[in-house]
Amino acid sequence: MIMRILVDMDGVIADFEGGFLQRWRDQHPDKSYIPIADRRGFYIQAQYPEDYAPDVRAIFQAPGFFRDLPPIPGGLDALRELDALDHEVFICSSPLAHYHNCVLEKYLWVDDQLGPAWIERVVLTRDKTLIHADILIDDRLQIVGREAPTWEHIVYDQPYNRADTGDLKRRLTWETWRAVLLGE
Ligand SMILES: [Mg+2]
Repeated sequence: MIMRILVDMDGVIADFEGGFLQRWRDQHPDKSYIPIADRRGFYIQAQYPEDYAPDVRAIFQAPGFFRDLPPIPGGLDALRELDALDHEVFICSSPLAHYHNCVLEKYLWVDDQLGPAWIERVVLTRDKTLIHADILIDDRLQIVGREAPTWEHIVYDQPYNRADTGDLKRRLTWETWRAVLLGE
């Protein structure tokens, strides 16, 4: 069965947490940091000391942050493989409300990492429930919007989304995706 699959960017194919932590440690070597394995909760600035919040936001609002994010290993190959199996793969990302660099750089990142054909597959929206699909792969646990989603949300497993023990959604990583999505 052909599936339409929405794949989130940050925390799924683009290593937002790794990119943040590297820049944070480079730019603020005097300040404390949270190793990725110890991250809890979706928003980085909510776990860092409150008075760090402006500096935290400045990291991911800066020019070059999104464009330079390293790919999460295995993600781009999985997208190409799903595409080769004729599944309809779309990259579905919610840009920052502070959109100035983020929106352009998300397109640049897809072009750099996957090539111009994948620009056709980019969907940027602040409300993913408006997009019709069979599956949404996303690292954020709570995805709400104006509509009842048509997709099944499969959580991309990350240290910061594991705390919610009441969550019954299926999970995958780019090591387990074939078993979860294709039943292989
Ligand atoms: Mg994400």
